[in-house]
Amino acid sequence: MRTNDGLEPAKRALSALARGVLGEGYVPEVPARMLETLENVASEGDRRRILNGLKLADSRFGSMMLTGKRVPVSWMSASEAEGVVQAWQNSRFASIRQLANTVIDLAAFSLYAHEPSEWQRIGYPGPSDHPFAEPPQLRPLPIETDSYLTCDVVIVGSGAGGGCVAAALAAAGLDVIVVDKGPFKTEADFSHSEPEASRDMYLYGKTLATSDLGVRIIAGSVVGGGTLVNYATAFRTPDHVLRQWADTSGIDAFVSGEIEASLDEVSRRIGVNTDSSAAGMRDRVMEEGLKKLGWHVDNMPRAVRGCTQDENCGYCGFGCRVGAKQSTMRVYLEDACKLGARLIAEANIDKVMIDDDVAGGVVGTVGDRELRIEARAVVVAAGAIESPALLLRSGLGGEVGKHLHLHPGTASWALFDEEVRAWEGTTQARYSNEFRGWDGGYGPILETVPLHPGEWATGLPWSSATHHRDRMAQYPHVGFCAVLPRDESSGTVRIGKDGSPMVDYVLSENDERRIVEGAIRAGQVLEAAGAREIFAPQVEQSSYEPGVRWSHEGWADRLRSTGVRGGRTTFFSYHQMGSCRMGTDPTTSVVDANNETHEVGGLFVVDASTFPSASGVNPMLSVYGIANRAAQKILRRIS
Ligand SMILES: Cc1cc2nc3c(=O)[nH]c(=O)nc-3n(C[C@H](O)[C@H](O)[C@H](O)COP(=O)(O)OP(=O)(O)OC[C@H]3O[C@@H](n4cnc5c(N)ncnc54)[C@H](O)[C@@H]3O)c2cc1C
Repeated sequence: MRTNDGLEPAKRALSALARGVLGEGYVPEVPARMLETLENVASEGDRRRILNGLKLADSRFGSMMLTGKRVPVSWMSASEAEGVVQAWQNSRFASIRQLANTVIDLAAFSLYAHEPSEWQRIGYPGPSDHPFAEPPQLRPLPIETDSYLTCDVVIVGSGAGGGCVAAALAAAGLDVIVVDKGPFKTEADFSHSEPEASRDMYLYGKTLATSDLGVRIIAGSVVGGGTLVNYATAFRTPDHVLRQWADTSGIDAFVSGEIEASLDEVSRRIGVNTDSSAAGMRDRVMEEGLKKLGWHVDNMPRAVRGCTQDENCGYCGFGCRVGAKQSTMRVYLEDACKLGARLIAEANIDKVMIDDDVAGGVVGTVGDRELRIEARAVVVAAGAIESPALLLRSGLGGEVGKHLHLHPGTASWALFDEEVRAWEGTTQARYSNEFRGWDGGYGPILETVPLHPGEWATGLPWSSATHHRDRMAQYPHVGFCAVLPRDESSGTVRIGKDGSPMVDYVLSENDERRIVEGAIRAGQVLEAAGAREIFAPQVEQSSYEPGVRWSHEGWADRLRSTGVRGGRTTFFSYHQMGSCRMGTDPTTSVVDANNETHEVGGLFVVDASTFPSASGVNPMLSVYGIANRAAQKILRRIS
């Protein structure tokens, strides 16, 4: 049960610190928005730690400890508060550095994602006004009282894994219930407002991060899961990755043609094509740089039908109003429900019921109602953060939660004379494979993504209120080249006292080197595309102006010597994988070749958590490929 004790002092401290972070942009609504965002934090322990730190800063004694000054932070001027945040950023204590980063992110998002006057200043038009398409024929089952249901198979999670399995099992005549803790949203609900979508359609309102705050974890949490908010990019699992997966897992299906055939089938069903990639300015800039350097560039394969590929497309991360994105809601969930599957939204599953090492259903809540579903088999498809958390809460152990990969993404940024308007255009239209072969297939891919003001404000390293504000004013002219690494590093999902997921992850030296080299190449791409200033993704900002100030070589040396580990860069993970990995050996994996857990019979895991290692490409299609195959194995197992 969450309590709001001590909120007033924390709010006063937030208000003062936000003034320091935002300078003259500060508006009085910011502290309340910051507190509202904190409500979404997964772990109550983490939320209380942040609130207690803030409360402490607003007492004389605590402020003395935290700021070296005898006055509570709320008595400080904006410039004094700015100095406090700057000092905290450089503190030798990790917890204080983390408090600084939390305050900066919360303040920046609370201003730039929400505030129309700031949108006007920075040249952002606000939500799109594209008309709404006809929604799919889905009717979730209302749960208005404590409920007890039975079925053949209950599926937890309606994203890529869960949606795909639901359709196949329903087609085989099984009685299927799909539950998702996210809300049911269709085309008509896609407001295209960044704060609303972040709160309602993303896991923990986008507040989840690794325990050192080094990687922000962004995942969908809505009926349709990640597939409803993702960018529709649909890469096949590369051959070298499939070979490695077969070696690591001991599962022949990755190389026998079985997974290949499954990938073919799902690609057809979700309409993967390379003819829906009209590039917006953001992608044209990257393409121009790549072409001038003679480096690989190609059209993105995308899972869309009838995509307008225009400026509105950039809002697709808040749901596709056109109905073109082939999300599980549009494809597999609709198929499943037409065949009689039941769908329950806002159903938060707490545990799998296990008796004598056999799964018998799930228990959870829908609001304040209890939900108990008994089933002959349970499919856990809650994504690579929540699936291991659910299994751990249910008493499983062993390798559960280990080997988590995050594809920690970053970017090099640049200013162009012309407007790039990075929030617009086809979600992802071009990519480059030029460096993928590094170190036996661990090199990064270069891509772009749509960038809305809240994301840009929190992704942009903060060093002072004026610097951040000035950079924000350049928003329409900002272009970038994102670096998507295939991480060798792996982390762990564990659960806190309240059962919520906590993620530990430390980047290896090899991954750091490849990411830095990727960012350096990304800078070269931007220079070749005609950028006037190029800047690094690190907190210690360094930039150069081609032909005017400093050079790419000097900048690259600086990037190499500074590095990106230890909080020098904040990474973004849109791809979580591997935390319940497949394998034939129970001592090194969680599920077997049929996606059934080694520990508990009738309990299957079918989502990105089952990857034997990082996919190295955007993972949706790989999840579908595994899920489509797994559905047949589940059918055989329970028939
Ligand atoms: C903004 C964004 C853009 C992306 N773009 C791309 C892209 O273009 N191409 C690509 O290949 N990949 C992309 N991805 C990644 C891709 O969407 C995911 O890898 C994929 O959806 C993972 O599938 P999954 O089945 O593992 O889990 P998800 O699709 O994440 O589904 C898990 C579902 O389980 C639900 N759930 C979790 N816990 C519980 C619980 N306890 N009880 C009930 N339900 C629960 C969640 O609410 C969620 O809806 C993107 C992701 C994001 C966030």
